[in-house]
Amino acid sequence: MAGILDEKIAFITGGGSGIGAATAKISAREGARVVVADMDDEGGQRTVSEIGNAGGEALFIHVDVTDEDGVRSAIQQTVEHFGRLDCAVNNAGIGGESRLLVDYSREAWDRVLAINLTGVWLCLQAEIRQMLATGGGSIVNMSSGAGLSGHPYNPPYSASKHGVIGITKSAAIQYGSSGIRINAVCPGVIETPMAAPMIGDPEKSESLLGRHALGRFGKPEEVGEAVAWLCSDAASYVTGIAMPVDAGYLA
Ligand code: NAD
Repeated sequence: MAGILDEKIAFITGGGSGIGAATAKISAREGARVVVADMDDEGGQRTVSEIGNAGGEALFIHVDVTDEDGVRSAIQQTVEHFGRLDCAVNNAGIGGESRLLVDYSREAWDRVLAINLTGVWLCLQAEIRQMLATGGGSIVNMSSGAGLSGHPYNPPYSASKHGVIGITKSAAIQYGSSGIRINAVCPGVIETPMAAPMIGDPEKSESLLGRHALGRFGKPEEVGEAVAWLCSDAASYVTGIAMPVDAGYLA
């Protein structure tokens, strides 16, 4: 049966764990050849092996999304290996620390913004330059429910994810006429290593669970399916949106 990403080349940051790994595997299942880009070599290689074992094709590239030259080189390697770039998922991110705003150090603030927001911008630059050269593509940036509402425990995280939506909308406007669709996805709380400390804290967990209308936290695959759809031609008339995948958290 034909997959929704047949013939596509997909580049996925943070593909070594959680939502990125699930997205990489679903993209491969849907026919894409996938680049798993991560600074965690072991996690990235594991995703690549799992895709290979399931009959798909994937390549691991080590990248730190805050390193401008490294990001540019990762896109170059993608094109050298697979011939082009059709889809990109800018998913790498960190949770940062759960703290009150006044207790956040400058260093911790800078780190969250550098990875979650500047990293997305650097990836967008390299990906869009490449897609302009070949006539288009589709990009998904990983925001969060905390990109559309305040995060109760983590102000810089929420600021970074609001920023991701801002850059998504601006980029969608600037590059729509060049055939590049750019969207953001806003997950609720998803069971991944990043969310484990929050889910493991009984007080936080109970309060957050109460905001998910479906009464449970999400699986990484439930986000990956939405991302794969946005990347695909099935979403050909969709650009500039911030799509909640959140069990009703934002409702
Ligand atoms: P995760 O910790 O399981 O995976 C994140 C991956 O990003 C890891 O493999 C890590 O090595 C990689 N990464 C981190 N910094 C990097 C860097 N500088 N360069 C390259 N790779 C880097 O987390 P996850 O929960 O799967 O999160 C993925 C994305 O989804 C993040 O952007 C996160 O903010 C977002 N998100 C997660 C949730 C949730 O509840 N889990 C909810 C909303 C949004």
